[in-house]
Amino acid sequence: MSAAPHIKPIDLAITVDDLLIWDGTPLPAGYSRETIVASMIKTFQSNGLSGIYGFPHTSPLDQDRGLISIIDHWCDSGHHIANHTHCHACLNWVSARFYCDDIKRAEDHIGQLIQKAPKRFFRYAMDMSGEAERKRGEVEDFLQANGYENAPITMWFGDFAWLAPYYRAVESNDEAALAMLRKSFLEAALFQLRSHAKAARLMFGRDLPYIWLIHATPIAADMLDDLIVAFKNEGVRFVTLENAMQDPIHRAMPRVSPKFRNHLQRYALMQSVEMEEVPRAMFASILNAAPMPGVESMEIYDTVLRKMCQRASGTYKWDWS
Ligand SMILES: [Zn+2]
Repeated sequence: MSAAPHIKPIDLAITVDDLLIWDGTPLPAGYSRETIVASMIKTFQSNGLSGIYGFPHTSPLDQDRGLISIIDHWCDSGHHIANHTHCHACLNWVSARFYCDDIKRAEDHIGQLIQKAPKRFFRYAMDMSGEAERKRGEVEDFLQANGYENAPITMWFGDFAWLAPYYRAVESNDEAALAMLRKSFLEAALFQLRSHAKAARLMFGRDLPYIWLIHATPIAADMLDDLIVAFKNEGVRFVTLENAMQDPIHRAMPRVSPKFRNHLQRYALMQSVEMEEVPRAMFASILNAAPMPGVESMEIYDTVLRKMCQRASGTYKWDWS
């Protein structure tokens, strides 16, 4: 991967999505939803970071109400909880009406915890806000009427892509693959930090206090400390989500797009700004690492997405491009 120029200091708010990782996600032996979140809490603590917003979808609680202890642990450790829908359905798959009801369904499970946070934040599943302005408008009206602010994502690195390969590498004790996956996880995070900052500077003439996404996955738990150190070395200063949300770029809405893009990437689409992406060859080697029959990366991600859609009785369509 080519080295991008060193960046200026930037402010960044960490957010953690899907504290109860999606149904259908393979977890290697030795990892559970509990241990992953507990490990992340410990790392934040040792780095002096608190007040981090977690965005859990809540459908796993339908099967196992006991999982609420994970979210309680998060809150008891000085972090906050926000609404991320119940089913984690993409707004493209369902009606605005269903989507708003689904936000309410999440409240049935974690409404009290959401209420305890300094702000009532919401995040669209996959940060995708639908394919039509009118539909998004209906959801936005609902959010406003219910005291929510949409907390979008303005920096991510596709961290979920490591889920299946990391599972295979841990399960098969493939040390070479594990080393490659951990190294590439860090490299991709830094690459996308630079790429998002570069695009923001080009579009807005300045940096944003970026809102960064990581999911509660095994590799994220194992690499979180290294990520925080690498970001600090890159000149990142960690700020709160409340602080980052004061930026008008986060409060405004770029034009809707049905594509799998975050908030900053939608601004880039709107302005035809090309954002640098992690080289395809590198992504291919990540997805194909530690091959194992019956555990193919893209099949797993497709299954996970279809499960979400089925739960929401939605119309499945998905395009990775
Ligand atoms: Zn999510």
